[in-house]
Amino acid sequence: MNKFTFTYPTKVYYGEGIASEALRQELPKAGKTVMLAYGGGSLKKSGVYDELKSLLAQAGKEVVDFSGIMPNPTYAKVQEGAKLAKERHVDFILAAGGGSVIDCCKVISVQAMTEEDIWNMEYQSGKFPAAGIPMGAVVTASGAFDTLSHAMETYLGNSDADNVSDDVALAVMRNTVVNMRRLLENINDMQARGNLMWDSAMAENGILKVGRLTDFQAHQIEHQLGAYTDCSHGQGLAVIHPVYYRHILKDAPEKFARFAKEVFEKDTAGEGVEALASFIKECGLPTRMNQLKSKVEITPDVLRQVADTCNIIKCNPRELNREEIYEILCECL
Ligand SMILES: [Zn+2]
Repeated sequence: MNKFTFTYPTKVYYGEGIASEALRQELPKAGKTVMLAYGGGSLKKSGVYDELKSLLAQAGKEVVDFSGIMPNPTYAKVQEGAKLAKERHVDFILAAGGGSVIDCCKVISVQAMTEEDIWNMEYQSGKFPAAGIPMGAVVTASGAFDTLSHAMETYLGNSDADNVSDDVALAVMRNTVVNMRRLLENINDMQARGNLMWDSAMAENGILKVGRLTDFQAHQIEHQLGAYTDCSHGQGLAVIHPVYYRHILKDAPEKFARFAKEVFEKDTAGEGVEALASFIKECGLPTRMNQLKSKVEITPDVLRQVADTCNIIKCNPRELNREEIYEILCECL
């Protein structure tokens, strides 16, 4: 393993119905004004919204509602939330939802603490604010294919042999596949849902990344595809992954062979990638660009723009060039 430092200062409460206990424990430590941030109607339909409101009221908090956080949250939505947080002097942000809501709130929390535009800070002055409004999250959903993708992309980055990060990554992938299959049998299998929640935390809490480089080329392509088309992150990844992996199969034969054996019980590297492609179909996920729910038509021209602007990762099994990224995207059509 390479040199690393690792810290994970996040307290996690896990389990069905645990939110009430978590909030009873944690809210007294927060200031008076809490921004309750969420997406659309599902939080209200499920009754979680009412439960959170009443727990916040019991804790004597003044609640500022911030709703309508969309999938692929926009810059404008971040600015809207930051403006509201500043105007109402929000002391704590409680994000309730999945990755989009939580990620949007992370950026709001730092944008609300500075007068500088966060986009300019990140992309022009190259600095990122260290201070943010404290926040917590009630996680109501996790994208299971995204979990698998994060673990696969971390695993396929360069690493030395026999390191524990690779072993844990393979275990997270295997467990994600097993529990996704359980949900295909019974969508209300709460134990499988809980397992997938923890798999998603394990895939991206940093544990898998210690002491090694990571790939994330599929993510870079998908982020750009999402920016141009507004397709769902997990669905875009499902389309891109098998095609990308067929391109780089020969660049990491041992890693793909181990992935095949340990995640899908297949004998060869190639069979492992094809098992991944079949699994994506089995889950009912899209396998082609035209199956993505996109607000713009996905044409070769759009894909050219995606290929010409996406980040290129240097530490994956093989550095791609823009022509090959375009080729990969066109093979997904
Ligand atoms: Zn992701």
